[in-house]
Amino acid sequence: MNPIFHELTHNVTCIDTEHMRKDFVAAYLIEDGDHAAFVDTGCHLSVPALLATLDAKNIKRENVDYILLTHIHLDHAGGAGELIKHLPNATVYVHEYGVQHLIDPSKLRAGVIGVYGELFFKQFLGDLIPISEERITTAKDGDEIILGSRVLKFIDTPGHARHHVCIWDETSRGIFSGDTLGVSYREFDTDQGELIFPPTTPVQFDPDTWKDTIKHLMSLKPKYAYLTHFNRIEFTQHSAEMLVQNIDGFVKIAKASEDQSNRHKAIKEQLLNYLLDIATDHGVALDEAQQIKLFKGDLEICAQGLGVWLDRS
Ligand SMILES: [Zn+2]
Repeated sequence: MNPIFHELTHNVTCIDTEHMRKDFVAAYLIEDGDHAAFVDTGCHLSVPALLATLDAKNIKRENVDYILLTHIHLDHAGGAGELIKHLPNATVYVHEYGVQHLIDPSKLRAGVIGVYGELFFKQFLGDLIPISEERITTAKDGDEIILGSRVLKFIDTPGHARHHVCIWDETSRGIFSGDTLGVSYREFDTDQGELIFPPTTPVQFDPDTWKDTIKHLMSLKPKYAYLTHFNRIEFTQHSAEMLVQNIDGFVKIAKASEDQSNRHKAIKEQLLNYLLDIATDHGVALDEAQQIKLFKGDLEICAQGLGVWLDRS
């Protein structure tokens, strides 16, 4: 296969996992000398693209030291079980709350099928393969790992999910942010910059914790965020403010819809209007049908996650 990847500065490559569509789900490859690491893997079906990227860049599979997982949602970690079969020297790093789900993914599988349905799981996510315990290391807050001459540091980042870590790369002053620094599709870039909003995915969305996490990450004074959805962006104080404002906006919609008879539908409709409004304010020129198409997947998942949060709080 012909993989699609974007070579960034500082020996970081953004690999398009081609899950659902192009420019939607990224995995990253970091290189330093003869050493390489993946950050996130996409889903099970994304693994051929990751291996083809190694081949295209002449990186030996035995030179991959790490698979670093930001969290275990399947668009980030679903491919880890398959990928590690091809990487003889790689160790998986994941938050302590994620470890058991990698060793025995049956609960995770059931949860995902509960949200997306069996058909979607088979067709778009493929499978979920267990990883043996001895190949997994717990990523604790503040832990550092060495890749060649490069130091990568884990930061505990709850809010999007309790089992979320970000990875701080001092070399590029970049944060591999998984979903914690939001979703930002390149189609919505304008001369005002990037449009960023929060993926309020089920089942652990926690707005106040998330906002504290963002503040903590900004204290590192990052230059870049390596977003899973999608690609690297310059992440400024303004980016952080936009993300926080949109977390608040999403929460306000959820609370206002609390007593509606069809709460899920009401939240979803209002989220769409909200996103179309912020896109207009941002100067996005795409026609509305295209915007709706790009927002579609997030709307369903974000509305579900807000519903779960309302039930919990
Ligand atoms: Zn996620």
